Amino acid sequence: MLVYSHSKLETFEKCRLKYKYRYIDKIVPKIPKSIEAYLGSMVHEALEWLYIKVMERKIPTVNELIDFFSEKWIENFSPDILIVRKEKITQDYFNMGIEFLVNYYMKNQPFTDNTIAIEERVEINFDEERKIIGYVDRLVHNLNRNEIEIHDYKTSASLLSREIMENSRQLALYSLAIKEMYGKDKNVSMVWHFLAHDMKFSLSRTNEQLDKLKKEVIELIDEIENTKDFPANKSRLCDWCEYKDICTAWK
Ligand code: SF4
Repeated sequence: MLVYSHSKLETFEKCRLKYKYRYIDKIVPKIPKSIEAYLGSMVHEALEWLYIKVMERKIPTVNELIDFFSEKWIENFSPDILIVRKEKITQDYFNMGIEFLVNYYMKNQPFTDNTIAIEERVEINFDEERKIIGYVDRLVHNLNRNEIEIHDYKTSASLLSREIMENSRQLALYSLAIKEMYGKDKNVSMVWHFLAHDMKFSLSRTNEQLDKLKKEVIELIDEIENTKDFPANKSRLCDWCEYKDICTAWK
């Protein structure tokens, strides 16, 4: 069985050499992660904790949420974490995390949108040989619209354009997975929370669009499986690449 994920497909598209290092050679990078990725994982962890409490009907205060985030930040921090932007220090990213969470909390309290799952593992089975797995940040059953909402938190500074969201593969794949679970006629929407901008956007894809996506992904998986050549693709993203120290393109 060939098991893929959105990030595995995306890595192949962005830089095949990085794909080879990570998924074929399975090299464990010396740099654990970038500070942006660390901030993202800590904010996700705090929001996961918040909604676990919400589902237990024990809504924490905003101060308790910040305390949780701060404790996790200290507990998991490593001095090896990569800071590319030299004008910033660790404290700046920590403060950003606090700001994202406070804004999110104030905007979304008392969290009554009917969350039904957090960090839900989903699968899209293309056939007996190929499948995609992923984790949805949060699932909501919107009872007013009888719709399942796929919520995704973004902590990067960039705001995606409507066109990029309309063509975004990750949440569309999760829409396919939800339709596998609930039936093709179930209404499913994708909700992006841009925490750095205190904004959210919602879109959905038609079944025809999802069928087209399915075909494209199957073709991409086949292309990856048949690829023998993994050239480097140097770009500005290399500064955030955890394999830059071993990358042949930078020697
Ligand atoms: S440093 Fe750049 S070229 Fe090298 S593997 Fe990473 S992304 Fe690819």
